[in-house]
Amino acid sequence: MTLDHHDARLALGAYLLGALDPEEARAVEDHVATCPACQAQIEELETLPALLDGVPSARAEALVEAPVQLNDLPAPPALLARVRARRRALRLRWAAALAGAAAASLALGVALGPVVAGVTTAEPPTASPSPSPAASYLITSSDGAQVDLALVRKGWGTELDLVCRGMPSAGVFSVWVVADDGAQERAASWSSTGYAGRAVLTGATSYQLASIRSIQIRDDTQRTLASLTLPAAPSG
Ligand SMILES: [Zn+2]
Repeated sequence: MTLDHHDARLALGAYLLGALDPEEARAVEDHVATCPACQAQIEELETLPALLDGVPSARAEALVEAPVQLNDLPAPPALLARVRARRRALRLRWAAALAGAAAASLALGVALGPVVAGVTTAEPPTASPSPSPAASYLITSSDGAQVDLALVRKGWGTELDLVCRGMPSAGVFSVWVVADDGAQERAASWSSTGYAGRAVLTGATSYQLASIRSIQIRDDTQRTLASLTLPAAPSG
């Protein structure tokens, strides 16, 4: 399959969006490799759509392997290599969306049922340490912010899982962990998300769960917005 300049030019948009099948895409690339005018056109088009950028490819790449036919062409111009990477990322994003749809089906018990069953039976729940939090709390501040906090015992210390709602709409916040002996560590910090004051984050402290006396959420002036005093150490 070969394309003349006119046809290739018409196909460039679809090519950039990853909408051509492999044979068509290769025909476009064969032409572009020899046509400075089409190369210039790609440079121009490539800067346009925001959708060509910001693809979270690291995650998507775990879902789909790179198509082989993109790698076996003779040394392409740098431009084509770059465009291919973008097209691949786009296609991967579609694949990720489809995988999401599959996950939705899974929730209905339709797809991948046998796989899940296999995993479940191969690893009885009692075989691994319980992933459930050692303790969970709801912290409420005087001005209405709410923080769900789960403390998880780890070999290296304690993990803090936080879901914050109704936090002030601007500022930088931090979570401080105060130990029995008065020492304190900052376990996490984050900037206001501006989205209903909502944030989901995970923090960490080297203090063992049993030695944690209190947990405080502070703003960037070190004012305590909300705090939690843990009950006296439940041994263990
Ligand atoms: Zn051309």
